[in-house]
Amino acid sequence: MHNERILNELQNIVGENYVSNREEDLYIYSQDPGASLRRNVDYVILPKNTEEVRKIVLFANAEKIPIIPMGGGLTLSGLIIPVRGGIVMDMKRMNRIIEINETSRYALIEAGVTTGQLLSHLNQNFPELQPPIPDAPPSATIAGNVLIHGSGYLSQKHGDHGAMINGIEVVLPDGEISKFGSCALSDYWFSRGPIIDFIGLFISAFGTLGVITKLSIKLYPKPNYRDVVFGLLKDTKDIPKLLLEITKTGLAEDVLLGSQDKPEWMKGYIFVMTYVTGDDPEEIEQNIKTFKKVYRKSNARFMKPPDRMRDTYLEKPIFAAGAADYRKGGGFEYVGAFMPLEKVPEAYDRAAEISRKYNIPPTIGSRLMSGTHTIVVFFSYSFNRADPKDMENARNALHETNELALQLGGIPWKVELDGQQLVLEKIDPSYKKVLKLVKTALDPNNIMNPGNWEVNEK
Ligand SMILES: Cc1cc2nc3c(=O)[nH]c(=O)nc-3n(C[C@H](O)[C@H](O)[C@H](O)COP(=O)(O)OP(=O)(O)OC[C@H]3O[C@@H](n4cnc5c(N)ncnc54)[C@H](O)[C@@H]3O)c2cc1C
Repeated sequence: MHNERILNELQNIVGENYVSNREEDLYIYSQDPGASLRRNVDYVILPKNTEEVRKIVLFANAEKIPIIPMGGGLTLSGLIIPVRGGIVMDMKRMNRIIEINETSRYALIEAGVTTGQLLSHLNQNFPELQPPIPDAPPSATIAGNVLIHGSGYLSQKHGDHGAMINGIEVVLPDGEISKFGSCALSDYWFSRGPIIDFIGLFISAFGTLGVITKLSIKLYPKPNYRDVVFGLLKDTKDIPKLLLEITKTGLAEDVLLGSQDKPEWMKGYIFVMTYVTGDDPEEIEQNIKTFKKVYRKSNARFMKPPDRMRDTYLEKPIFAAGAADYRKGGGFEYVGAFMPLEKVPEAYDRAAEISRKYNIPPTIGSRLMSGTHTIVVFFSYSFNRADPKDMENARNALHETNELALQLGGIPWKVELDGQQLVLEKIDPSYKKVLKLVKTALDPNNIMNPGNWEVNEK
């Protein structure tokens, strides 16, 4: 689709430095850091404001050219690699932090603001407040994360990050600029209701219903002190009881667990890390004592992390890549799945079998969200990026894991194309009908990230 006329039109909107169809510029946008195969991109464009986004969408709609909105491009599941070519819209120039409201505790930001940028802005200017941040690299955007039901250290108490959106400004596929949430009728972007909640439509939609240009997300008070304790379980069957006991205390800030065969000293255990917070060191000590009892009561060995590890684990967000990437060649991808707690033991056991079958060291992690109402489980598979056969091997393991998650009553998260079709095969037919109705009504020319969540009638 490399066409000089189209390039000229796009240059008229954003200026010639911010759009390209040169192969050397497109190369990086034709792939992501996960196991997906490369796919073709025709243009990359970097708008500076909502008005430019609107003009690009209007033009693409008239020309029926796909648009793929992109934040940091870090989901690992290929969600920002075009399926049918077209324009990747890289949001990084829309990086204004518009307002921090300390009283109603929210941040109003443009969609290109990264997690690292907001975190350091708050640390420097509003040290009492903390944002919802995933354990992803700091170049991930807040928008990209909250728009995929992301999660992080605030999720145990406050739910997934999608639940923390107060409002969005979105350019719909016909170029209309719409606002949803309290911002639709108030100067304050403080709440999602009490009006019909359309924001949910745009979460986990993978850019198929419009381009979000601004959003408001909740901020939370920062604790004075934080510490972490470990529990070691030998048997996956003990996981639900322990997690129910931990959350019953109401004292845990964040609960992470995992099991992995590498490094060797971790093999054979399920590690359960509970973060505690407090106003002073005495309160922390008291809370740690409570968890000591809870762990022991639930068949877990209690331990405080050695000092040399403690600092690493206390960094929020923690550096997660190290947990999964153990093999030569530096690549990994994971199936994340929202699971019902009762199925977590079986999920751990059977996913470890899948890993061994594909000759990949088992690496499984989880995070609790909203107490124990949801648990997101990460089944990671590492691969050697330089070896196409090894990547294929990982893709097969990922596919089998998506099937496993669905079989056990779970829901694959930020799911790649192949897994989206598995979800749509299993989903209630009336859900598919409504999905198609909404998509056709908002995007009749199917220009927004086409190929994703596509309902194909057989
Ligand atoms: C080492 C590592 C650790 C991770 N840990 C976590 C973790 O702890 N928690 C977690 O939640 N995730 C985690 N992730 C997954 C992922 O990196 C994050 O969720 C990340 O925040 C996604 O943001 P992004 O800006 O990269 O999104 P992108 O990949 O750019 O986009 C995600 C989706 O949203 C759409 N989109 C992006 N911007 C817009 C927009 N403006 N309008 C409409 N649609 C849009 C895209 O089209 C895409 O479908 C991790 C990833 C890695 C590599």
